[in-house]
Amino acid sequence: MKILIINAGSSSLKYQFMESEGGEVFAKGLCERIGIDGRLTHKVPGREDVKRDIPMPTHNEAIQAVLDIMVDPVNGVISSVDEIAAVGHRVLHGGMAFTASCIIDDACIEAIKKCIPLGPLHNPANLMGIEACQKIMPSTPQVAVFDTAFHMTMPPKAYIYAIPYEYYEKDDVRRYGFHGTSHRYVSARAIDMLGNPEHSKVISCHLGNGSSLAAVVDGKVVDTSMGLGPLAGFPMGTRSGDVDPTILEYLMGRYGYSIKEMLNILNKKSGVLGISGVSSDFRDLDAAAAGNERAALALDKFIYEVKKYIGAYAAAMGGVDAIVFTAGIGENSKDLRYRICEGLDYMGVKMDAEKNSVRGKEADVSAAGSKVKVFIIPTNEELMIAMDTAELCKK
Ligand code: ADP
Repeated sequence: MKILIINAGSSSLKYQFMESEGGEVFAKGLCERIGIDGRLTHKVPGREDVKRDIPMPTHNEAIQAVLDIMVDPVNGVISSVDEIAAVGHRVLHGGMAFTASCIIDDACIEAIKKCIPLGPLHNPANLMGIEACQKIMPSTPQVAVFDTAFHMTMPPKAYIYAIPYEYYEKDDVRRYGFHGTSHRYVSARAIDMLGNPEHSKVISCHLGNGSSLAAVVDGKVVDTSMGLGPLAGFPMGTRSGDVDPTILEYLMGRYGYSIKEMLNILNKKSGVLGISGVSSDFRDLDAAAAGNERAALALDKFIYEVKKYIGAYAAAMGGVDAIVFTAGIGENSKDLRYRICEGLDYMGVKMDAEKNSVRGKEADVSAAGSKVKVFIIPTNEELMIAMDTAELCKK
């Protein structure tokens, strides 16, 4: 089935048009500066990229621009919008309502709206993308795929926070976790690469701009590092990961920050950017680390915290069969992968440094005789969204 995948942000919208079986990508692109002026970048494999300034006061014009370029006689890939069998939307927060993807109807929209307080930055934008598609292509089925859904199998001891229980009961405060679509894809591939054993324990490391780990037993998440929101876990590009809440009170008192300002610091100015003062991009940190102590410290901190999570999840699962690296850093940085696995021999992790010298393709990089397999698996969230969308639409 030919599926259009939409990932709508507040001022941008990414799209990909692909075949759900086999995953062939026909076209993909990006609408930027929605609500400001509007720019479209459209990419078709084997052709030159098309860039156009198109007014996009709202997401409606952005979706219209995407459909127009898709059927454009020169730059397009289809002759009619009817060739789009369905639209799959990436939605950040599904709260407790969604344990799987779902067909978008009025009830689904209401449930996504109810999750806005849990995902205040993303869910409203995701909804704008959905509503624009409903308006512009009313007869095309739409599906919502949630970043949180794959994590909903966590047991209570993993998702409950040790605060008064009423906040869980009345206000849905609990660990949700994110990057679920990516963890689902790579952990399933890892289980395949292990030879589909009846039982498996996988640690999935999604290391990108935002990063999270998931512990996956027999294909089901039992723990993950992000929490109620994506700020939790270990340090990322610009996010702090877990911090002692006392820091908030202390700094807000000293500098008079509002909670909004404080959270902006933790979301946008922290992580490896905050420690290094150099960059949130690990390539810049790698380049700077030799002559810059703080850049080196930022990398040390990141590696140390990821390593601690791997140890914690191995303990939580009572062992591990495979560790998977994915996303920008996980797929591309051999040094970070190597340093994360260094010293884990005691738990049966032995990486083959030579095999580890690959970038961006599936590989088993464990040394001969390593009890634990180390895999690199490029993530493919779009394929997961396309497959879910096709499956739900066939039903
Ligand atoms: P997003 O979370 O935005 O999807 P990605 O998964 O694409 O992010 O990851 C982007 C990050 O991956 C970059 O910010 C950069 O830090 C990192 N990255 C990409 N290539 C490399 C590389 N060769 N070495 C180290 N880090 C890399």
